[in-house]
Amino acid sequence: MNRNKSLQRIIGTERWDIVVIGGGATGLGAAVDAASRGYKTLLVEQADFAKGTSSRSTKLVHGGVRYLEQGNISLVKEALKERGLFLKNAPHLAREQAFIIPVYNLWERLKYTIGLKLYEWLSGSLRIGKVAFLSKEKVMKQMPGISSNKLKGGVLYYDGQFDDARMAVSLAATCEDFGGVVINYMKVESIGRNEKNEVDGVTLEDLTTNKKYNVQTKVVINATGVFADDVREMDTGKREKTILPSQGVHLVLDSKYLQTLDYAMMIPKTDDGRVLFLVPWHNHLLMGTTDTALEEHTLEPRALDKEIEFILRNARHYLEEAPERKDVLSVYAGLRPLALPDGGNGKNSKDISRGESIKVSSSKLISVTGGKWTTYRHMGEDAINKAIEVGKLKPVACSTKTLKIHGWSNEKRVAADWNVYGSDCAKIEQLMKENPEMAERLDEDWHFTKAQVVWAVREEMALQLEDVLSRRFRVLFLDARAALRMAPKVAAIMRKELGKDFAWEKNQKKEFIELARGYDIRSGNK
Ligand code: FAD
Repeated sequence: MNRNKSLQRIIGTERWDIVVIGGGATGLGAAVDAASRGYKTLLVEQADFAKGTSSRSTKLVHGGVRYLEQGNISLVKEALKERGLFLKNAPHLAREQAFIIPVYNLWERLKYTIGLKLYEWLSGSLRIGKVAFLSKEKVMKQMPGISSNKLKGGVLYYDGQFDDARMAVSLAATCEDFGGVVINYMKVESIGRNEKNEVDGVTLEDLTTNKKYNVQTKVVINATGVFADDVREMDTGKREKTILPSQGVHLVLDSKYLQTLDYAMMIPKTDDGRVLFLVPWHNHLLMGTTDTALEEHTLEPRALDKEIEFILRNARHYLEEAPERKDVLSVYAGLRPLALPDGGNGKNSKDISRGESIKVSSSKLISVTGGKWTTYRHMGEDAINKAIEVGKLKPVACSTKTLKIHGWSNEKRVAADWNVYGSDCAKIEQLMKENPEMAERLDEDWHFTKAQVVWAVREEMALQLEDVLSRRFRVLFLDARAALRMAPKVAAIMRKELGKDFAWEKNQKKEFIELARGYDIRSGNK
């Protein structure tokens, strides 16, 4: 992907079939669907791909065990089907993950075994693994870090796990593989209408130059997550609340607390009834999430103290060695764009459905919200079906059920971090062959090399230091201080690659230090 080329195509295209606003899971799913059906497709993102909610998930490709309890069988069934397709279409980015639910009495054993058998059955031919009851001894053996206090055993089940921001980058590349255009740091600032008062274009502002571009299109899809109501307001001039932002927080720790990288733990009911996951991710342990309804939305939400305390307090019940604030390597927060039911007041965010919502305004702006990462493909399919109807586009059938995501590869690398590149690995290795200096590591504790920074700039549209350290590499999310250690080297490589000056490099480092502060709570920062 090359940003200058994208810009040239924006300038050179008279009229698009579909313009998608938002480079998160929802927008990218729609753009891949549209481009692969052959429509002239443009996706614009105001920041970096997945800068919003889509880099801040629990990293699960799942049906959602908790939604079963809410009796939402059709939502779970659809998500389980999508889980199966996700694992097949992006094996370099997603894998099967074994989970154990610890049980403390016979009732829990029966309840979770029956519930999870139903979950397994609902996944039909796309089932992964088999649900089983494990004795206390077996649970302790598979997950040595679990507290033995009152433990009676565990129920084993399977779901999927993935790298969300890397998936976003691969989807952007997939869109381009099919002739679509994607561009980051390009903000939609207004929506245009024709004489029939129907949406017919958008005005873009390139945030790297402040230049404006007017773009004509047959259809506009608003896939801006928690920002969706802002874009609707550009269309109607009226403020209407259709989205409830619900904040979720994760803490990242050393994997020693579970003492396994093979099993994840799922706590269906914490002390206030919320679910808690402890999931191995890139050799670390992820603990979350919370569910706190908020009034405000921002691209860089910050964890609340009460959320951090909630996770640590609950983890204490289940782990032999309880982590404390000083042990948290990184903390990140994300906002779920929950679609409010019409007329709903949205008081209890954990009870609002995670289902998708597609709304078409009187001027034919299509807004797609809600859902989850796991169902991004299905949301994309529905959005483009709607676009065909609304924009009277020549119908073409959807082909994403079996569409391989850019980099598709089944090969597993020795350094697991390299799996995310899939077949592109060979091209990065080629860079290192041509110039051995490129193989130099950025930090002695991490596998990242100079070549990967160069690749991120040349091929993955990384423009800011943060794009590399947060989303091309996930190091800011894994260990904020390690990210700070790598920042000077990464900034220097990026300066050369992007042809910037030393003032740029200095400013990037300064901004990154400020950003990383919000992810590091070890010294009381936040
Ligand atoms: P976003 O990712 O927020 O994307 C919207 C994009 O629009 C943003 O990047 C924003 O910059 C851009 N934008 C806004 N305004 C403009 C504009 N004017 N011009 C251009 N661009 C604009 N799902 C799962 O399947 N599995 C999980 O484990 C999981 N865990 C989760 C944990 C948490 C804490 C949260 C919050 C969510 C989780 N989800 C999970 C749900 C999933 O992450 C979200 O449903 C999904 O990421 C939402 O994607 P989106 O594209 O709708 O929104």
